[in-house]
Amino acid sequence: MGLSLELENFPAAELVHWAHSTYGSDFAIATSFQKEGMVIVDLACRIAGSACRVFTLDTGRLPEETYQMMETVRERYGIAIETVAPLPEDLQPMVASHGPNLFYESPELRGLCCEVRKVRPLERKLRELKAWAAGLRREQSDTRAAIRKAEEIEGRVRVCPLADWSSAQVERYIHENRVPVHPLYARGYASIGCGPCTRAIQPGEDERAGRWWWEQQGRKECGIHFAANGMVERGRDA
Ligand code: SF4
Repeated sequence: MGLSLELENFPAAELVHWAHSTYGSDFAIATSFQKEGMVIVDLACRIAGSACRVFTLDTGRLPEETYQMMETVRERYGIAIETVAPLPEDLQPMVASHGPNLFYESPELRGLCCEVRKVRPLERKLRELKAWAAGLRREQSDTRAAIRKAEEIEGRVRVCPLADWSSAQVERYIHENRVPVHPLYARGYASIGCGPCTRAIQPGEDERAGRWWWEQQGRKECGIHFAANGMVERGRDA
């Protein structure tokens, strides 16, 4: 599957339109209802209406405010939210062996929890699809600086319509289009994921400083964006 380099020059709305018209119901938006994902949902619903497919990883540890956002999005756009949960046969032995809060014990156990609750469910969902959209932006972190707007990953196409957007562009779009905003932003969160692994940040801190804040070293990623060798692998706006 060869992807045209022209896609790199497509504005966000055109790229979403291209993905929807090319892949139809085999295209879906992956989101955890952060601002970037919501911009893409808004763009896609303008293009595809209720045919817009949106899915989220329900890790079982999401904050209550994220479930509120699911309701808000369902009502605002009239779309179903497809949820993907970890399999009991993966979850139960992990929790039995290491306890429910294993992520605080070591980077390895945190990685195991993300693998079971996020990576494997995402892989299952992607098997249904030919293309998906993620809300990654290059300026979010060094590890995202090289993402492309469209690339083939393990036989599927990932589009990142906001790859070249600044945070100011995201804010402007949300303001001008009255896009729903996750309630935790108003409480100082800059990046939102699972409840026990995310907190508000202080002024001047890095956007992803509130994720796994107890880990001093390494990437602030959950493994669904980057493979062990550092190559971009797959992703949602986790
Ligand atoms: Fe587990 Fe935390 Fe990763 Fe969520 S973010 S899957 S709770 S380690």
